[in-house]
Amino acid sequence: MAHYDVLIVGGGAAGFFTAINVATFNPELKVAILERGKNVLSKVKISGGGRCNVTHAEFIPKDLSLNYPRGEKELLGPFHSFMTGDTIGWFADRGVELKTEDDGRMFPVTNTSETIIDCFLSETRRLGIKVLTGQPVKNIQKNNESWVVESTKTNFGCDQLVIATGSNPKMWDILKDLGHKMVDAVPSLFTFNIKDPRIKDLAGISTFAEVKITNSGLESEGPLLITHWGMSGPGILKLSAWGARDLNDCNYQFSILVNWVPSFNPESISEELTRLKESSAKQKVIKYAQFELPKRLWIKLVKASGIPEDEVWANVSKKQLDQLALQLCKGEFSVNGKSTFKDEFVTAGGVDLKEIDFKTFRSKKYENLYLAGEVLNIDAITGGFNFQNAWTGGFIAAKAIAGIS
Ligand SMILES: Cc1cc2nc3c(=O)[nH]c(=O)nc-3n(C[C@H](O)[C@H](O)[C@H](O)COP(=O)(O)OP(=O)(O)OC[C@H]3O[C@@H](n4cnc5c(N)ncnc54)[C@H](O)[C@@H]3O)c2cc1C
Repeated sequence: MAHYDVLIVGGGAAGFFTAINVATFNPELKVAILERGKNVLSKVKISGGGRCNVTHAEFIPKDLSLNYPRGEKELLGPFHSFMTGDTIGWFADRGVELKTEDDGRMFPVTNTSETIIDCFLSETRRLGIKVLTGQPVKNIQKNNESWVVESTKTNFGCDQLVIATGSNPKMWDILKDLGHKMVDAVPSLFTFNIKDPRIKDLAGISTFAEVKITNSGLESEGPLLITHWGMSGPGILKLSAWGARDLNDCNYQFSILVNWVPSFNPESISEELTRLKESSAKQKVIKYAQFELPKRLWIKLVKASGIPEDEVWANVSKKQLDQLALQLCKGEFSVNGKSTFKDEFVTAGGVDLKEIDFKTFRSKKYENLYLAGEVLNIDAITGGFNFQNAWTGGFIAAKAIAGIS
């Protein structure tokens, strides 16, 4: 049976980052990665639309942690050890330059995820890390102080074991058998299915809005994109991540309140509308979109307020003005199901965070078991934060494994 000092199960982002850092800190250690599939780093390859959104240009640990609906509290400490600036430096040291886009997302300057994959593969070669593909792990057992890891093909032994298998259900069962508490998987990062005449035929329109889930404290602000199926965009995706568990509990049947003009509330906008009624008395209401709203959306909201298409401002009744104020600032929409966002799905759930020592990413149940990446009950909103979790966990675990405090 082949024996390694360090065995990493899972050839994804977290697995590679851990392996490379272990071998960098201590080149004496014999390190191997076991990957179930034929290829490694398959999610990295398709990530960010093939460009790999490596991290996010947020350099304050507290602010960075706010992007993790699950993991916010636990990642704060680790981010003080390894976060965005360190990620940028780590890749730069290996010849990979990152660039920042207007929204803060960071990508390789080459605009292709292959750059990240090439970097990882050349590092594993340089450091003598064994990458063993086609090795689905089906069982893990403790053998005195070391581990026996059984793949469907053969057995491996190791002194230190790292689990970086993402949200693979088989490994969740194995971890359960080892005594770890697993938090059930639910999807995160999805768009809302909404059929409503107010957004019908408006697919492609994007505007800054505030969205609240009724009967819950959840709300978010950001660009809202109207799609053929309903609503998407950063504002909606954020809500889907923060509400992942509650929304799953209600089977994705809920309602939201949309404020299309977040700098106003129904009272302050009523004053503006009354002013418009006086200043633009002879003008048709639908003629000019107000409050910098997209024109086609403005027309839909005016119609939804019961104001006829050819009505002029002077003839709009008090009741209609109140309705328009509500449509603009508190439009209620029923959500009926969810859709996947550009194939980018993330799973909430995984190893209960109470069972992890976040100074080392070591299991509190076993001295020589480490866990990093999406296998933990950590997930983030879209924007490069999910990979940053993999880099941070991998780096800190590697330090502990290599015996660097
Ligand atoms: C389409 C898509 C696009 C994305 N884009 C981005 C992005 O641009 N930026 C971002 O931050 N996040 C993105 N994400 C999320 C990000 O990919 C994940 O958070 C990240 O890959 C998690 O890394 P990981 O190493 O923990 O798990 P994974 O990347 O899932 O790697 C786990 C590996 O373990 C292997 N494995 C599983 N079970 C076993 C087993 N029993 N034995 C052996 N091997 C096993 C798997 O085959 C896999 O290779 C995206 C996700 C998707 C689906």
